[in-house]
Amino acid sequence: MNQYSRIAIVISDRSYEYDIYTLVIAFFQGVSTQVFDPGADIPFLADLTVKVQISDESIYISAGSLERHIASSAGAERSTVKNILKRNLYEMLRDICGRDLPWGNLTGIRPVKLAMSALEEDEESAAKKMTERYYVSPAKAELSVRIAGRERSILSGIDTDNGYSLYIGIPFCPSICLYCSFSSSPLSLWESRVDEYLDALILEMRACRYSFPGKTLHTVYIGGGTPTTLSPSQMDRLLGAVEENYDLSHVMEYTVEAGRPDSITAGKLRVLRNHPVTRISVNPQTMNQKTLDLIGRRHTVDDTVRAYEQARSLGFDNINMDLIVGLPGEGPDEIEHTMQCIEELDPDDVTVHALALKRAARLALHMDEYEKISFRASDMIMERCQEGCSRLGMTPYYLYRQKNMAGNFENVGYAKSGKAGLYNILIMEEVECILALGASGSTKIVYDDGRIERIENVKDIRNYLERIDEMIRRKDVLARI
Ligand code: SF4
Repeated sequence: MNQYSRIAIVISDRSYEYDIYTLVIAFFQGVSTQVFDPGADIPFLADLTVKVQISDESIYISAGSLERHIASSAGAERSTVKNILKRNLYEMLRDICGRDLPWGNLTGIRPVKLAMSALEEDEESAAKKMTERYYVSPAKAELSVRIAGRERSILSGIDTDNGYSLYIGIPFCPSICLYCSFSSSPLSLWESRVDEYLDALILEMRACRYSFPGKTLHTVYIGGGTPTTLSPSQMDRLLGAVEENYDLSHVMEYTVEAGRPDSITAGKLRVLRNHPVTRISVNPQTMNQKTLDLIGRRHTVDDTVRAYEQARSLGFDNINMDLIVGLPGEGPDEIEHTMQCIEELDPDDVTVHALALKRAARLALHMDEYEKISFRASDMIMERCQEGCSRLGMTPYYLYRQKNMAGNFENVGYAKSGKAGLYNILIMEEVECILALGASGSTKIVYDDGRIERIENVKDIRNYLERIDEMIRRKDVLARI
């Protein structure tokens, strides 16, 4: 536990704020931290003040009683300044805290991208580079390089320059989980307007059918929210519209994130089987009923087992299960129990998430109430998940990080051979365009030179329904790419 309760960061150049702030809060998780301009009044007595002054000639950093002056050449590239800044600040915070971080000074969400570019050399040198340059622990560097290698081999057979993926969002859930930070709404509030939402979505689907001319559709992903909040006939209408409007003949993966077990019925699974869906998710998050009740999932462990077995008996041969570590009240014993149940069920892929306490989550808003139950993710817990997946014949195939993750860990997808979620890799590596439809859809254009542009749909459902014509117009440009 650290003894700090308030931290002030004073930065002369706010364009580095994200990197500095993220690094500080990675060392001091849960400590109230605020950023100020030089000379601003700090309205509290800080236990630790971090100051960063950047000029053309030098970088000055101080943290508590430690300080460093680093010479920097005028006109140095931003990336160089950022690296100097992060390396030095990391070393100082490490001295203050007396410990390293598993991901070193990396603050981005895609460490595997870095490993991928380091892979130009052999695996050992790539891992060494991550450890030496960014202070990534040897275990995490080895994991990133291993995943980068697997991603590279999966992507090697795919012409990503000439392909794209289709994402469709269904923003309704049976209830809102306490830790949720997605823009999802309870179905009970929208039940009478779901058909109207589908009308708008299908309008958008039709209007965008000629997006990315010349590119081949490689994957389809229906996510949310919880797509299986749709009734069987609504689901049938949605999937039928996908087939009417898009050429699925080269699609390598078609995922429907069934997600919440309380929304999955045999009838809906049959509808999915009647369409060319190849992969579904049945997401337990935990197999401990006490935790499910606490986090507002409003389904039982038995619901998960029932939904999974129904899907298997209907012939689904690629079922993913999402788990979360670091949930309130869950330590090694609870994870042990969850992993034993998962090993018995034997899914094809498992995604292990470390709980991210995003600001919007009700869990974060109620931290006082839940703090006493504690949020724990540890090496031991992460290793137990890895062991379980490896006993099921799975290897890690994708990884990403989020801000404020429990224990500074990561999310890792494990899959059996041939079952890795291709869409997950494509979205993380940002090598292929994505056409995203529905409320909160974020369309991504990946240009030949690696430049990325996004076209966002509004998040709010009411806004999406009212402004559907504008959402469509925003994507007009896609017909010329
Ligand atoms: S199922 Fe997922 S999207 Fe829905 S409320 Fe829970 S966390 Fe949010």
